[in-house]
Amino acid sequence: MNAAVLPVSEGLDTILRERGQREVFCGLTGIVWLHRKMQDAFFLVVGSRTCAHLLQSAAGVMIFAEPRFATAIIGERDLAGLADANAELDRIVAELLARRPDIRVLFLVGSCPSEVIKLDLSRAARRLSDSIPGVRVLNYSGSGIETTFTEGEDACLATLVPGLPVSTDGADLLVVGALADTVEDQFRRLFAAMGVVRVGFLPARRAAEPPSIGPHTRFILAQPFLAETARLLAKAGLKRISATMPLGAEGTRAWFTAIAGALDIPPSRVQEVTEIPYRRAESALRRMHAHLSGKSIFFFPDSQLEIPLARFAANELGMRLTEVGTPYLHRALIAEDLARLPTGITLSEGQDVERQLDRCRAIRPDLTVCGLGLANPLEAEGLTTKWSIELVFTPIQGFEQAADLAELFARPLRRRARLTV
Ligand code: SF4
Repeated sequence: MNAAVLPVSEGLDTILRERGQREVFCGLTGIVWLHRKMQDAFFLVVGSRTCAHLLQSAAGVMIFAEPRFATAIIGERDLAGLADANAELDRIVAELLARRPDIRVLFLVGSCPSEVIKLDLSRAARRLSDSIPGVRVLNYSGSGIETTFTEGEDACLATLVPGLPVSTDGADLLVVGALADTVEDQFRRLFAAMGVVRVGFLPARRAAEPPSIGPHTRFILAQPFLAETARLLAKAGLKRISATMPLGAEGTRAWFTAIAGALDIPPSRVQEVTEIPYRRAESALRRMHAHLSGKSIFFFPDSQLEIPLARFAANELGMRLTEVGTPYLHRALIAEDLARLPTGITLSEGQDVERQLDRCRAIRPDLTVCGLGLANPLEAEGLTTKWSIELVFTPIQGFEQAADLAELFARPLRRRARLTV
């Protein structure tokens, strides 16, 4: 366990790097939103009962729903090496595909147990892909040994990059990161009004119909936690557009403005197209500002959305940042959000949970954004919390969602105020 205070950087008073015990979900969690997004995909976790429970409880799957994920349980015979795990997997996949002929892309998702027994899922995916016509079988790891929370989406999207078709009339713009369909539709309308017609989204709603790319395609992140996907896209020759994440009125307008700049669209056109939704979002946020301005907020590291969220909370809601923790600080990917953070805050990367809890208790912020495991104990100590997982599951990007995002911060404060009356 260790902690190091790094030199002061632009706009930030202290950067604390910690490598201790972490309290964060594993990358399997990403399946909860990815399975809703890709309508022809299926996620088969090769894992334990614990993995199955995590997914069921995180997804809150309705009893009548036919979910697009399942867990192939690694039993004691597999762990003891008594069963041929590959033969078992082939049998389960065959049964699944017979029952669900709508599946076009099957993700085999690795877990801690599959890593422990060294089950080679990439080989299994290649074997199955070759033997099953009409179904692409891919694999990635969502294990708690290798990934945290939103890294599962990064690992999943990274597997899709090599399969993107390349053509000279590929998309002008590729938006990268899973967005709720409503948000994607709003963005498409704004792009069309700006004159950007050839737009692809990764992931696509149908995984078997990925957007095509070309040498001219520029990509922009809609989520900040996609370091490996961004690296692979850059390696494929695509240039990244650097921008704030599309959160809040300002963040979303800056995101569209950056796209317009990269695609040679006049700034006046962006101004004109975004003016009405921007004004609407700004006016909704002004009302929330009255409730949230001056309230202190502390972010535990969880989803990697913390820095863009902190930028939004401070600059668009007037909240007072105390510590902003992030599991990983991918400086290049969030440079624009980082540059807009106010001074006088502590930024921490990684976690040593006990030390961080001590700092949080000493500050006693008005609102603490943290994982589920920390929320209950902190609430019991009289602190008001917001589950960071909600900020990932809820559509928060774009102009129309700006007030909903602010509301996610305001609601726990209102609830606490009612309880203390
Ligand atoms: S992958 Fe590992 S950390 Fe995640 S639920 Fe399964 S056993 Fe737990």
